[in-house]
Amino acid sequence: MSQYHDDEEDENFGDDEDEEELEPEPEPFPPPPAQASDNPLPQATLPILVLMQQIIDAIKTSGLQDDIKEPEKLHSLGNPPKTTPPLDPIMLMSIKIFKTLALGSQQMYDGVRAALSEHPTGPFEIHSYYITRQKLETQTGITEIRTDMCPKACVAYTGPFAQLENCPECGVSRYKTDDKLPEQQFYTIPLGPQLQALWRTPQNAFFMKYRNCRTQEILALAKKNGGIMPLYEDVFDGKEYLDAYLAGQVREDDTLVMFSWDGAQLYKDKQSDCFFGIWIVLNLSPEIRYKMKYILPALIIPGPHEPRNTESFLLPSFRHTSALQRSGLKAYDGHLSKYIITRPFTAFNGADAVALPKVSGQVGHKGALSCRVTCGMPARLRDRKYYPAALKPFNSSTAGSGHPDIDVCTLGGPDPNQYQMNLRIMLQSKTITSYNQNRRLTGIVRPSICLGFEANAMFRIPMCFPIDLMHLISINIPQHLIHIWRNTSEARFQYTGTKPDFIVLDNERDWNRHGDLVASTHQYLPASIDRPPRNPAAKINTQYKACEYMMYLWSLGPALFCLVLPHHLWTHFCKLVCGLRLVHQRRITYQQAVRAHNILNEWESEFELKYYARDEQHLHLVRPSIHAVIHLARETIRCGPLNLLAQWAMETTIGNLGEEVHQHSNPYANLSERALLRAQMNVLKAIHPEVDTDKPHPRGSLVLKHGYLLLRACDRYDHKILDCDELRTLHNFLAQRGLPLVTSLIRWARLRLPNGETVRCAWKELENRNTRTSRNVQFKSGDSLFYGEIQYFFCLTIANQKHAFALISHFSDPDQDLLEQSHQTLYVAHYHGKQALEIIDVFFFFFSIERLNYTSVNYTVNRSWLRSHMGIVKKNYER
Ligand SMILES: [Zn+2]
Ligand SMILES: [Zn+2]
Repeated sequence: MSQYHDDEEDENFGDDEDEEELEPEPEPFPPPPAQASDNPLPQATLPILVLMQQIIDAIKTSGLQDDIKEPEKLHSLGNPPKTTPPLDPIMLMSIKIFKTLALGSQQMYDGVRAALSEHPTGPFEIHSYYITRQKLETQTGITEIRTDMCPKACVAYTGPFAQLENCPECGVSRYKTDDKLPEQQFYTIPLGPQLQALWRTPQNAFFMKYRNCRTQEILALAKKNGGIMPLYEDVFDGKEYLDAYLAGQVREDDTLVMFSWDGAQLYKDKQSDCFFGIWIVLNLSPEIRYKMKYILPALIIPGPHEPRNTESFLLPSFRHTSALQRSGLKAYDGHLSKYIITRPFTAFNGADAVALPKVSGQVGHKGALSCRVTCGMPARLRDRKYYPAALKPFNSSTAGSGHPDIDVCTLGGPDPNQYQMNLRIMLQSKTITSYNQNRRLTGIVRPSICLGFEANAMFRIPMCFPIDLMHLISINIPQHLIHIWRNTSEARFQYTGTKPDFIVLDNERDWNRHGDLVASTHQYLPASIDRPPRNPAAKINTQYKACEYMMYLWSLGPALFCLVLPHHLWTHFCKLVCGLRLVHQRRITYQQAVRAHNILNEWESEFELKYYARDEQHLHLVRPSIHAVIHLARETIRCGPLNLLAQWAMETTIGNLGEEVHQHSNPYANLSERALLRAQMNVLKAIHPEVDTDKPHPRGSLVLKHGYLLLRACDRYDHKILDCDELRTLHNFLAQRGLPLVTSLIRWARLRLPNGETVRCAWKELENRNTRTSRNVQFKSGDSLFYGEIQYFFCLTIANQKHAFALISHFSDPDQDLLEQSHQTLYVAHYHGKQALEIIDVFFFFFSIERLNYTSVNYTVNRSWLRSHMGIVKKNYER
């Protein structure tokens, strides 16, 4: 269901005031930073700003009773229970069946219930669907807050609109009938009870303390390293968090959360926009944080219309959270067996580049100061549109594009003092003309709704808006580069005489051949990649997925485009791949971040020279996504690995909730119900761990240490080794360890790695003629990383303990020239079969890799960066 908004091309998204319709004057950098003032913000007089200030005030001055009206619910929010009474056997069975049929319908549940009641040795009783749903609500205490909304989604009737009976935008009545039945409502699922449930059981409360434990380790590490973090592996390694912690702003019992939101179309072919908000609980370790059961639903706005006054729809969620920040949330800490007061600390707010302005109040990507990181670099104007080119065009024809070159290395990051000062300028706009001028000057459209949060329980604006790596890297940049190379879409330009050397795929025949090559890589990709890139020549316009683009450009790209681009443009492209792989790693060292910063800055500067070439007519090639690249490494140091804050969690939630809706007569209402049910099931799993049983290991598997698992097939009888090379390798290995020599062993076919990925071997893949290749791995031998093909796995008993090993065929050393020219992104090695056998301990495996055959050359592409991120984000969503 989820269809990505194309951040950079979507012309129709909401805010028309983001459009720059007036002829702007040339603007140098915005005014110099001023000291942030503690004085209250000036009161706006312009209606559009007054309205926004009223929404912020409604959030700031709220109480919990503004949204939770029933006295008993309010009472239980203030007095959470210490324990939860156990589920009776009938309820437990009912819930388990209910959970198993999560993708099914009520009819399916009723069918199972009827069948059980007719069992000859029974009857076995389970509750009716209705009773189970009702008990789920009473057990978990999770109910929705319903808010009336305009059926055309103009406004939500809350805050400044609470008393209206007709929509202030379109005039449509709020009610269906005279007895005030609302036309339409949307659901908010309050954060408080969901967090209380996470703190209640001993195990989850222990998980919630991950942040505190990690923080102490990190502070010790930073101290040892003279204040510099040597490694970035989570939000807590980022400067933003550590500064807030050291300043006493983030407290020990706080629950650090991130709000993330996005829109998606329910149906591919018709307008059906739905908007979703979720809370991500950063207190949990990143290994479990993104699992479905820990992603907390926040709100769902039903389609098919896009919300216009978005802030009014976010208001109930933000108001409830803001009230909890002020009053504190009482929760029972099941680990310490005592009550604590925890505050939801709203660290980050995530959205793609189109949806973010609704939360940040800043100009969209088309504005003069459009940089998401608000570095203040002024864009260059051509044909009433802005492009963030650092270099001045040699043929500048308008004042808006003629400012001198800007050295991208001197650009800074987000600055809260600057924001405060700009906001004051904006709020004092007296007329529409001065408002428009100030908007261009400051990059602010209206005050951010996040100002409603408690100032000491949030990262300051705009520090709380991280870059969304997912849309940037996996959609915007790939689409733009492909358009340039094909000379299509907005990147298209007319040339006379010689064709620019970067237009390489404009010819249908070449494009089709390239597409075939992409599709032909499938058989070399590990089976764990659930969406290998389809043939772009046939499918790129039909919802090509983020993970397809990722594999296509950043994993296979150096090999694929080596055959297409002129050498200097290919090495230039590889610089981008190198930098992006570095910032995409699960763990990034400080040195790697510095390297990524340098190489990405180089890439951006060279991109301007090689593609736009200071020609005003080519300015449109420098889009916001090209500029954003220069901020990635520094933002990693500020926020931690950006992939952890990207929209992957949101997209996955949209995807799996959408799956549950199916073909329903009222899909929007059903979607809201599904989100509520998700929240209730999450809480139930948290407070009743017995409901959340793990899947058993596959039959006949052998459990090893550290989460590794050997899986069948395996030999039933000892397999006699007849091959001389194999036997010699085995005997050398055994002799070196002083173990008795053997000539036969039991072979195993598959190994499951702790990240959930399964590695296979040549023995069974060749025998079964598998259509995908999962037998090539990256492994460690000594201190170095190598690549090889697994022949098979086997076990040896050493000192009464079973140890698993793999017989591997080592690939040759990589082609050094290609490796260097490609900035370490293209690893081309040769396969030596049985001439290069080695036995290694399976604990030295890291990732399975793909090995591609082109003509006579074997390309082995290191995609550990992809796997590491897929491992944590994709895999963990499995139920
Ligand atoms: Zn309306
Ligand atoms: Zn910038």
